[in-house]
Amino acid sequence: CGIVGYIGNREAFPVLINGLKKLEYRGYDSAGVALLNGSLEVFKQKGKVADLESFAAAKNPAGSIGIGHTRWATHGIPSDENSHPHQSMNGYFTVVHNGIVENYAQLKSDLTAHGYRFVSETDTEVLACLFEFFYTQNSGNSAEAAVQLALSKVVGAYGIAVLCSSEKDKIIAARKGSPLVIGLGTGEYFVASDASPIAEFTSHVVYLNDYDLVVLQRSNFTLKNIENNPVSLTVSSLEDRI
Ligand code: GLU
Repeated sequence: CGIVGYIGNREAFPVLINGLKKLEYRGYDSAGVALLNGSLEVFKQKGKVADLESFAAAKNPAGSIGIGHTRWATHGIPSDENSHPHQSMNGYFTVVHNGIVENYAQLKSDLTAHGYRFVSETDTEVLACLFEFFYTQNSGNSAEAAVQLALSKVVGAYGIAVLCSSEKDKIIAARKGSPLVIGLGTGEYFVASDASPIAEFTSHVVYLNDYDLVVLQRSNFTLKNIENNPVSLTVSSLEDRI
């Protein structure tokens, strides 16, 4: 339902929580964040963003890279386990996802045949494991190459933001049929499902088109499509749109 991500030099946790609060108007049943700070920490639960905030704040969340989500359940009941972010079985990939993977049952059974086990009922956990499958199957694949390969197998709609625990300096985001916007700061980038979490930080944004894939690092970003072809970049100004 709602996505927000941050990479830069600020503490990511307040950026993510405040961003999720700005997305609450869309409706949701659960909320969660993942932070990369050397290791990866995930805080998620059924219920309100304010409850997630106090639950996570008590554990001193730290890190300047992170992703967050408010969930409107489509596959699996609202529960702590089904909340996003979802992690792949061996922990390489952490994913927040808006939309529906229509062929998730087939993908899940294919992955199960390769030894994958699942802890949630969501279509999103299948995505995370599919990324890991392509990442670990060929050690030459970068995280974004694995995501591209996996998305070429997906039928359905997605807006996603992805962290990879062995490529710690990046957020990968991609969309098909579910909106995503990138905020361009100085030494920092934002990603969100609409501009409301971004507007207070920067007015320079890039609206992703279907099949776009972006890799955000602190000092640069690259925009391609899921077939790894270059895509022309249009920077919009939020001020022009008001
Ligand atoms: N299909 C996913 C789920 O049920 C994402 C739902 C959403 O867009 O929030 O977890």
